[in-house]
Amino acid sequence: MISAGIVTVSYIAATILFILALGGLSNQETARRGNWYGIVGMAIALLATIFGVVTQHYAILLVALLIGGSVGILLARRVQMTQMPELVAILHSLVGLAAVAVGFANFMDPTVHFEGVELTIHDIETYLGILIGAVTFSGSVIAFGKLSGRIGGKPMLLPGRHWMNLGLLIAAIWFGREFVIQSAAGDGITPLIVMTVVALLFGIHMVMAIGGADMPVVVSMLNSYSGWAASATGFMLNNDLLIVTGALVGSSGAILSYIMCRAMNRKFLNVIAGGFGTGGGTVASSTEEQGEVVAIDANEAASMLAGAKQVMIIPGYGMAVAQAQHIVHELTTALRAKGINVRFGIHPVAGRMPGHMNVLLAEARVPYDIVFEMDEVNDDFPEVDVSIVIGANDIVNPSAQEEPDSPIAGMPVLECWKGNTTIVLKRSMATGYAGVQNPLFFKENTRMLFGDAKDSLDAVFKVL
Ligand code: NDP
Repeated sequence: MISAGIVTVSYIAATILFILALGGLSNQETARRGNWYGIVGMAIALLATIFGVVTQHYAILLVALLIGGSVGILLARRVQMTQMPELVAILHSLVGLAAVAVGFANFMDPTVHFEGVELTIHDIETYLGILIGAVTFSGSVIAFGKLSGRIGGKPMLLPGRHWMNLGLLIAAIWFGREFVIQSAAGDGITPLIVMTVVALLFGIHMVMAIGGADMPVVVSMLNSYSGWAASATGFMLNNDLLIVTGALVGSSGAILSYIMCRAMNRKFLNVIAGGFGTGGGTVASSTEEQGEVVAIDANEAASMLAGAKQVMIIPGYGMAVAQAQHIVHELTTALRAKGINVRFGIHPVAGRMPGHMNVLLAEARVPYDIVFEMDEVNDDFPEVDVSIVIGANDIVNPSAQEEPDSPIAGMPVLECWKGNTTIVLKRSMATGYAGVQNPLFFKENTRMLFGDAKDSLDAVFKVL
């Protein structure tokens, strides 16, 4: 057992390390260090809690730690890079579930005694912790299903859904009042259970109503919710570190949601209300005859690249699927050795999680100074000789600008068609995550190199 003073000092140290971790993660060059700060901070937090806060039931704690730790290690070892977004989503759901479990346990704990105003405040903390936790839990499970393709990307639009949401909100407030009143009389479990069911339904409905293209905002929003759920739990348990850590996760998730909304040119409330991105490609243009596509082989692609002076590489989700990042790096090195200026244009929602492409390119050791954000390069396309689109689709779809009815209308896209030639690497004419046809493939300066992105790039590299 360590003293309360040491626990406080450890918590302050952990808090500082978490803040340093966030700072580190904001930049690719310092991200590795940031991760280490986070790991050390979490280790300190766990040790201080186990040896300073926990006073009994060590055997149960040990068994839980062993089970949780082993599952975590197993998952982290097994998970493919392409499954990372799903893993993140399901981990958020666990934070929510923990908040619900801790909330109920705390409410039913006979040793917890509060009176008067303190009881009311504690009840509100409990209620909010369970409410946010339950929404996070069920929402994240649905997000997991959508990201892993187990549930279709199409938004489920129930008639009168806004009224339904409003009804659920009013119900949550009403049962909250009931809970506080009944709890003062020594009861309250019924309104608590009813609210939990309401919150679970709300979480499911909220994420089901969101279309494929808007999923990035939802993922970062659930990230934020998981933080607020933890923070509410921290208030309930009177644990400062949990309050601060939860607030850090909650606010950074909220900032990320804002950035994602801006990247997609969406209003946050509109996304939450749902129904933007349709999953079925139902817009008129997708069924219309778009014209001919021109397919090329690796030889032709290689000679186009060899003859270029300015090359822009636009990676998307397909690069992650094909695990093509390493060959992309080799190709980049080869082209640069020929004196060709190669740059990467990264769309903020490329792939299936924020920063997905940056992670892959960093893993393959592509130099950071040639990797640019969309806004930094989007005006340069008229000077680009060849753009290579590697397994990207929605993020280079001109219909976002040209078709007001499109589910992705208004989303900024990388305007590669303004360059001289675009080579698109994908396996078929299939649509991307938002489920809309892409007129880029039919433009006269677009060439399609069909096949798995890694195989295609291997072949191009050999010819070069
Ligand atoms: P898209 O999903 O639009 O397109 C990916 C393309 O890659 C597909 O059209 C597919 O075509 C192709 N592809 C798949 N596997 C391979 C392979 N092995 N080799 C070559 N090509 C392959 O991805 P984008 O990155 O362009 O856009 C991201 C989309 O995901 C956006 O709609 C975004 O809103 C959404 N999203 C983003 C999140 C984020 O946080 N970044 C989170 C959730 C959703 P084919 O099958 O023909 O090969």
